[in-house]
Amino acid sequence: MIKCDFLVIGSGITGLTFAQKAAQKGSVVIVTKKEKSDANTNYAQGGIASVFSPDDSFDLHIKDTIKAGDGLSHKEVVEIMVKEGPQLVKELMDFGVEFTVKSSERGKNVLDLGMEGGHSRRRIVHSKDLTGKTIETALLNAAKSYGNIKMLENHTAIDLIPDNSDKPKRCVGAYIFDNISGKIIRIYSRITLLASGGAGQLYLHTTNPSIATGDGISMAYRIGVPVANMEFIQFHPTSLYEKEETERAFLISEAVRGEGAFLKTIDGRSFMGNYHPMKSLAPRDIIARAIDAELKKSGEKFVLLDTSPIETKRFENRFPTIHNTLSEKGIFPTSDSIPVVPAAHYLCGGIVSDVNAKTSLTGLYAAGEVAFTGIHGANRLASNSLLEALVFSERAFKCAKKEFKKFNFILKRIDTLERKRKMKVEKNIIFHNRDVIKKIMCDYVGIVRKESRLVEALKRIKTIEEEVNNNFEYSRIFPELIELRNMAQVAKLITYSALTRKESRGLHYIIDYPEKDDKRWKKDTILSKDMMK
Ligand SMILES: Cc1cc2nc3c(=O)[nH]c(=O)nc-3n(C[C@H](O)[C@H](O)[C@H](O)COP(=O)(O)OP(=O)(O)OC[C@H]3O[C@@H](n4cnc5c(N)ncnc54)[C@H](O)[C@@H]3O)c2cc1C
Repeated sequence: MIKCDFLVIGSGITGLTFAQKAAQKGSVVIVTKKEKSDANTNYAQGGIASVFSPDDSFDLHIKDTIKAGDGLSHKEVVEIMVKEGPQLVKELMDFGVEFTVKSSERGKNVLDLGMEGGHSRRRIVHSKDLTGKTIETALLNAAKSYGNIKMLENHTAIDLIPDNSDKPKRCVGAYIFDNISGKIIRIYSRITLLASGGAGQLYLHTTNPSIATGDGISMAYRIGVPVANMEFIQFHPTSLYEKEETERAFLISEAVRGEGAFLKTIDGRSFMGNYHPMKSLAPRDIIARAIDAELKKSGEKFVLLDTSPIETKRFENRFPTIHNTLSEKGIFPTSDSIPVVPAAHYLCGGIVSDVNAKTSLTGLYAAGEVAFTGIHGANRLASNSLLEALVFSERAFKCAKKEFKKFNFILKRIDTLERKRKMKVEKNIIFHNRDVIKKIMCDYVGIVRKESRLVEALKRIKTIEEEVNNNFEYSRIFPELIELRNMAQVAKLITYSALTRKESRGLHYIIDYPEKDDKRWKKDTILSKDMMK
């Protein structure tokens, strides 16, 4: 058993920024299920959207975010993010993050701001195309200097501990599985922050690394905290198409289109003009659906990203990772076009949390990709997620530092988790069910949805969920089983939310209801355990 003031689940940008501030007030334990740098954060390429340019303004960034959100963004929360963002981006530089700069007309070093789809101004602060890695590395280095941060790598959170199992009023910690020793440990905390990221791994094609299995959402939902807008899954339009299936698709950042690259069919026809006036810089949902439509028409497996408008030196300098990765695969950008397909990328919904990242359960906070703050609405504006993570981990800290001393440790147990188990479900069954979920989500709950397919998907997912829950009750626990239990539940939440919303809006496109219906559906889809009984 471990006791700490602040338990942080996740070591991406959200968990690490919160932990370093919290460590100045009390003891911190970070649990992270693989290596500490294994997080979506580490793979972010484009950058962080924030207002720094003299020709930009908070109003413009707010307007662009709300426009992308397609009627569902919560304006007051967007305002908070946009206005509090620049200060926190500067703070990242104090943590040692080096962003790319250029020389201004007056010979001063200024941030080299990138352009991305849906933004009306250049406002993407970046570190070449390695922004996430640069941030993650700097934050992990800075974390080393705090003696009171204990980092538990290869530890998978299983479930949150309630003060009372019938009617939980407070979260008092979490059950954690030590992946190496195979032991289950209890960590008791005054404050618990879920910073466990998204759920891209529920889909067959995804840009997300293997950690993104929706664990935090599932844990919060199981303890009775509502989740919202799970139907809004953002598909990144341009992930690299490869013949061999990979665990994680390599992303070709939107910033490449921001620099002039454009989409075309295999036979060379530029098609985005037929779908949107902003062509290849249209919002992501429009581009993903346009590619989906073109692929369905042609029967091909990919479209091409033509990078010839970008000067070769500029490409190499601005996108070194993309350039090197592609070159290793025999693709030479600016002379060759890049084969691309859409892939699941970002979850706009998540655990309902307020402007201070507090959930409905006392002592439990959620921030970053795992949370639903209302900012992204029906579609996320590119590069707003790292910004959201920064702003709401800061707000979580400011609120938690005021309240943590009010909470005593409550040493509760969950009897069902502590039960002795003799049987061990075979791994091949776990992998089989995992693959089935990923395929169902891709084929039935993907970019273009249909009511009858969603009904079928729900039926199949429920069968898998039942089997997994049964296994979970009697089998010895291990990480793949923990993840599968969460994946089945989150897949159900996504599919159920998609079935609930009887309109098409933002990222949710359903052919039975192709129009937006503001009268009935200009609202969030909120689900809680009580409602689903
Ligand atoms: C390829 C790619 C490119 C992107 N590019 C951009 C971009 O340019 N700009 C932008 O704003 N956003 C971008 N995003 C999105 C952005 O990176 C994420 O939304 C953001 O990093 C999320 O940060 P986080 O701290 O909330 O979660 P993450 O960084 O995903 O961290 C989650 C952490 O939780 C841990 N965890 C999960 N479950 C458990 C468990 N059960 N027990 C213990 N630990 C657990 C993980 O191991 C990990 O450490 C991109 C995402 C991807 C995948």
